[in-house]
Amino acid sequence: MTDIIHLLPDNIANQIAAGEVIQRPAAAVKELLENAVDAGATEIQLILKDAGKELVQVIDNGSGMSETDARLCFERHATSKIQHIDDLFRICTMGFRGEALASIAAVAQVELKTRRAEDHVGTYIEIENSTVRKQEPVQWLQGTSIAMKNLFFNVPARRNFLKSNAAEMRHVVDEFIRVAMAFPQLQFTLTHNGTQLFYLEKGSLKQRIVNILGQHYNSKLVAVKEMTDYMNVYGFVGKPDAAKKTRGDQFFFVNNRFIRSPYLNHAVMSAYAEMLPGDSFPLYVLFIELSPEHVDINVHPTKQEIKFDDEKVLYAFIQATIKHSLAQFNITPTLDFDLDPSIQQLTSVSQPFTKQQQEDSTGGSLYKTFTQAHQAHRIDQNDSNLRHWKDLYEPSAPRPAGGEFVSPPPAYIPSGASVIDAHWQDQQKAPMQVHQQYILSHIKSGFFLIDQHAAHERILYERYQRALHEKPMATQQSLFPQTLSLAPADAALVSAMLPDLQTLGYDLEPFGQNTFVVRGTPADIQFGNEQASIEGLLEQFKHSADLKLDRREQLVRSMARNNAIPIGKGLSVREMQNLIDELFACATPNVSPSGRATFVSFKLNELDKMFEKGAQ
Ligand code: ADP
Ligand code: MG
Repeated sequence: MTDIIHLLPDNIANQIAAGEVIQRPAAAVKELLENAVDAGATEIQLILKDAGKELVQVIDNGSGMSETDARLCFERHATSKIQHIDDLFRICTMGFRGEALASIAAVAQVELKTRRAEDHVGTYIEIENSTVRKQEPVQWLQGTSIAMKNLFFNVPARRNFLKSNAAEMRHVVDEFIRVAMAFPQLQFTLTHNGTQLFYLEKGSLKQRIVNILGQHYNSKLVAVKEMTDYMNVYGFVGKPDAAKKTRGDQFFFVNNRFIRSPYLNHAVMSAYAEMLPGDSFPLYVLFIELSPEHVDINVHPTKQEIKFDDEKVLYAFIQATIKHSLAQFNITPTLDFDLDPSIQQLTSVSQPFTKQQQEDSTGGSLYKTFTQAHQAHRIDQNDSNLRHWKDLYEPSAPRPAGGEFVSPPPAYIPSGASVIDAHWQDQQKAPMQVHQQYILSHIKSGFFLIDQHAAHERILYERYQRALHEKPMATQQSLFPQTLSLAPADAALVSAMLPDLQTLGYDLEPFGQNTFVVRGTPADIQFGNEQASIEGLLEQFKHSADLKLDRREQLVRSMARNNAIPIGKGLSVREMQNLIDELFACATPNVSPSGRATFVSFKLNELDKMFEKGAQ
């Protein structure tokens, strides 16, 4: 018997390993772009032919390489980025395994041109099948150009696995966008078959997002920023009304590395909760910065998963941060971030973190900061929201105290003005009902038009949510308990929801054969309406059946809709004022639970425009 095991020749072993790293042109694009970023380039060009099958070339103005390094960089495990195993836990560069260029050289023909600032001449190297074919000095600008030609020319089987140009190009563009998105302070261009597809100027993150994903997002981005000594989260999320039916404009970067994380995606989606119309996906471009020690990036280079040492904390942190950002924008729905250059200029928004900042953010624990005030995760509705929304109103706006509008005696009446005038002015600032449907409420810069039904629905929704999760609703006992006979299916539904209904203030008991006794209803329901209230609730519940929502959520929504002030009901000034106060004390005041607007703001300057004032 002869022995049957033999060692693979180096070039075959290389090709096998290389095929794992470079599976398609897009993989080379990612590796070459990341190398350019690591080399400190500020301008990076990507040039492709035939979706990268024929050519992937990256030209950068980074550090360049010495002659020796230019030779060495194609060796397997050749890297300038780590020296000791400990370095793995401090990685701040994109690459570190030293296998990308070796892999590319094993499966394609490669031409390298590179020059450092301090060298007079650069180095030109041609390599194919991992073998150097040519090396000579070359005149070259500072920086590096690496051209990968004829991918898999020597591995036809793999070449046959490549998809159509359109499909490969999609992968290429995805990778390009991920790198370009993470480094808005660098200039990127992409040229395919002689046509420039992207020209991305250096700029702020917001500009980069809009340049890549489209101008329509310009007024639809909400800034996110939360810094703690454990981790930072910053970036932008899209306003709910800009959400798309297709997933796609969603990006997570951990220490500037694009990752896919269904888990963290869930955290973001849950922060939007009921603000999104069903089946739609909001934009997000979120950067998570945390000390490299807490992240395991030592996974396969083509995998975009990443391990965190404490996922749960990360989840809670992200969810709270996004909620907080969305709540802030809810308060001032028409404030455009364009108008607020201070936000765009924040270094955290316009630039990724410096190494120094990254180092500064090490140590400490998120648990500690989790309960502190001034942090996103502490969303104190009665404090932050109310405080902000009141800022929108005139400081002197009178608050009616009684059931009817009562003007406080004016402390100071301008000479020449009568008491009547002052009274008239105050009255103008009181909320006003329009068609028993909308409430007109003055703010400093114009007015809000509030939908009374939608607004009340929002208020009740949050009240009922609190009842379920914190303190049960108060019950108003009926003078005469009523019996309620239901269809068998409805009775089964009520039985199943009985505990929740009780928490929500219904005093309800089974009374045999599809019948219940109602002894009390939530304290905010009109007296004597017990039966109608429960029947209406059942109707709502059945009609709003949304399989994606859990039953409790559906119950709370139905109850809020059912019990909200209907259109056509007249309201006193005091009732309107209460409604406004309660609305803006909500965590999410600007949309109804089903995602419709609760109010629209009209600004004086917009009105002026409509009337063409200042046009003459
Ligand atoms: P890694 O990035 O994991 O270190 P690579 O195979 O991608 O491995 O690159 C090997 C080495 O070649 C890098 O560590 C770097 O020193 C050098 N290098 C690669 N690309 C460039 C470039 N565009 N500019 C300067 N140096 C580069
Ligand atoms: Mg690399």
